[in-house]
Amino acid sequence: MSFVKGLKCKECGEVYPKEALHVCDMCFGPLEAAYDYEKIKGALSKELIESRGHNIWRYKELLPIDEEPTVGLKVGYTPLIRAHNLGNALGLSEIYIKNDGVCFPTLSFKDRVVSVALSKAKEFGYDTAACASTGNLANSVAALSRAGNLKNYIFIPYDLEQAKIVGTTVYGANLIGINGAYDDVNRLCSEVAGKFGWAFVNINMRPYYAEGSKSLAFEVMEQLGWRSPKHFVVPMASGSLLTKVWKAIKEFETIGLIEETGTKIYGAQAKGCSPITTALKNKWEIFKPVKPDTIAKSLAIGTPADGFYAMQVMNQSGGWGEDVADQEIIDGIKLLAETEGIFTETAGGVTIAVTKKLVEQGVLPKDESIVLAITGNGLKTQEAITNDVSQPHIIDANLEEFEELYDRLNNENQGGSEDAISAHSNTA
Ligand SMILES: *Cc1c(COP(=O)(O)O)cnc(C)c1O
Ligand SMILES: [Zn+2]
Repeated sequence: MSFVKGLKCKECGEVYPKEALHVCDMCFGPLEAAYDYEKIKGALSKELIESRGHNIWRYKELLPIDEEPTVGLKVGYTPLIRAHNLGNALGLSEIYIKNDGVCFPTLSFKDRVVSVALSKAKEFGYDTAACASTGNLANSVAALSRAGNLKNYIFIPYDLEQAKIVGTTVYGANLIGINGAYDDVNRLCSEVAGKFGWAFVNINMRPYYAEGSKSLAFEVMEQLGWRSPKHFVVPMASGSLLTKVWKAIKEFETIGLIEETGTKIYGAQAKGCSPITTALKNKWEIFKPVKPDTIAKSLAIGTPADGFYAMQVMNQSGGWGEDVADQEIIDGIKLLAETEGIFTETAGGVTIAVTKKLVEQGVLPKDESIVLAITGNGLKTQEAITNDVSQPHIIDANLEEFEELYDRLNNENQGGSEDAISAHSNTA
């Protein structure tokens, strides 16, 4: 049974059949999956969702597939953590981390979108998956295309982090590094997509792919006990995830799974690539493309495909957006690690740092529920912080040397904890 009516142009409303299309013939607007919400309302309930496996497909009526999913069956349902320590550090009473840094199988939220895109690609009969990526998408397409028995061609800017490259080629992927930035990669891929009959997950499959992002917000609402937070902070590259978080909340409201909350959506970017937040803050109608220069490579898209719609969502929801410098991103990564024991990548550092900034500006209130989308894993972007974390203390395997070190560490820690001091006096 299918709940997807077809594709619909976001600009002029023209309706298209469920095919591998992404642009409107009439107005060149982007196409989006359109659902029969009345039918879904009759078929889907909290009880039915709760009875299903802990993965994105527990919301399958709200994902754009017509048959049972075939790729990424265990993807999603990542932890939502009540972050008391981070809250104390920022002076916030109710803050949560949605930790997609541990999403299965490739440790970023991209596993959600790729599962949907490749399940749909297999319905369409494609035998080859492809993508233009800033890194995490490459990892996910490489892994899930293997598991789903599809061939792959993966295009990236040549200068990505080592872990994002190895985390792609380890699967035996056809990885193509382009001399240029993501926008050059994407331009080439649009030409390739027109010429080769592949399922390009974020080009001709984009209307299906993008819907997968909704599952992050569906999970948050279920994990909060079937409610939406007052505030949701989301990192932006193309801006797609942010628009889909909003769409997911509206859908749960429409089919009656949650009460209307008036959730405000906040977008986070790095200063070195902030076309969307810059346009928002300057009240421009449209963004100006930029040439990215930031350590947050996963967010480095200078011409964001959904930038316009992301601005609309931030404005209409009553939220806002901010951007932060590279040092603030590093500090954000360290703050989350030291308070909550979660090691996120640069994109997560952007989200933490932007949250801190919005709190300091008084834009985010201190006593209302706030969810932060932490979208990727820090082990993949270690280059960004290697010079900002301490090195191990190297000693010989010798008790005296360790005792000397122990004394020194305790003095440095301004006397250390009481436990440490009494443990020392016992041995002296
Ligand atoms: C791709 C990506 C994003 C943003 O994705 P968009 O939907 O293009 O805005 C955020 N965080 C991480 C870690 C990503 O890889
Ligand atoms: Zn149109």
